[in-house]
Amino acid sequence: MQFEDEKYTVDTNQLLVVSEKFGSADVYGQNAKSILNKATGFIKAYDFTLNPYRGCQYGCTYCYAAAFSPNEKMRNEWGKWVLIKENAAEVLEKELMRWQKKNSDKSPSIYMSSVTDPYQPIESKTQLTRRLLEVMLEYRPILVIQTRSPMITRDIDILQRFKNLRINMSIPTGSEVVRKDFEPQTPSIRARLNAMKKIKAKINDLTGYLPKLSITITPLLPTLPEEQDGFIRQLNFVDRVVIQDFHASHKRSLIASTRDAAINMKKKYEWWYNNEVESYQKFKNKLLQILNDVEVKEGQAGFTYE
Ligand code: SF4
Repeated sequence: MQFEDEKYTVDTNQLLVVSEKFGSADVYGQNAKSILNKATGFIKAYDFTLNPYRGCQYGCTYCYAAAFSPNEKMRNEWGKWVLIKENAAEVLEKELMRWQKKNSDKSPSIYMSSVTDPYQPIESKTQLTRRLLEVMLEYRPILVIQTRSPMITRDIDILQRFKNLRINMSIPTGSEVVRKDFEPQTPSIRARLNAMKKIKAKINDLTGYLPKLSITITPLLPTLPEEQDGFIRQLNFVDRVVIQDFHASHKRSLIASTRDAAINMKKKYEWWYNNEVESYQKFKNKLLQILNDVEVKEGQAGFTYE
């Protein structure tokens, strides 16, 4: 069976298990034909998306990327498999060299990653994302890293050498109980916030360039009423906070890109979802009231580099 992830084609009959398990995930390895893909849709302002992996061990219930799984079985098992693009660093080097020849006066803008997490658990073993960063450094890109993993702090030594870097840390809820329902395999909210604080504390003008720091509350999940103010107050050290709804007016968009687990979870949180538009608006108003010095953006506008 063949499937296509933008320009990246995989023959699932030839997938190689390179390690039987990593945690609870089956691990596959295969060479990629290309690693930089034209950015489209929500992030079309970038030149490229860069996904070091296919699949994601975090397996968030609402993840739209699950819909691009190779087959129905793997879609149903989203979070339990990951494919390593083993030659990604070599391919990236070639593609960036080609870009530089054609665009000597322009830096490429790259969004890493759009359909996987570049710092999911397997990265601790492969260090693939780290190698990609090392390659990219030479080409001075405008780079946005989207992750929900504290493992990003491992690479502070490299990150601080990027002059044009934004780090988007995904934290869709301020309540641990909600996180465990919607994304039980992910790091805690506290760990993610601490990672961003560590980046801010460790990088300064003497060590390198401090990246722009964003918290992306996307998609906006419920936060328990008694935890909302406290959560929002903790965000006051970043440059930007982004919110995005669950496409309340397009009910099928949730159904099309998620599994039953997320649909059922919406039912558990009826107190939020029965008045989803109002819940969103109230949360947004709180962000604006409490975060005086932080830029608050919505939807697509929040995912720009600038
Ligand atoms: S971390 Fe991102 S890519 Fe991975 S499952 Fe969650 S939403 Fe999807």
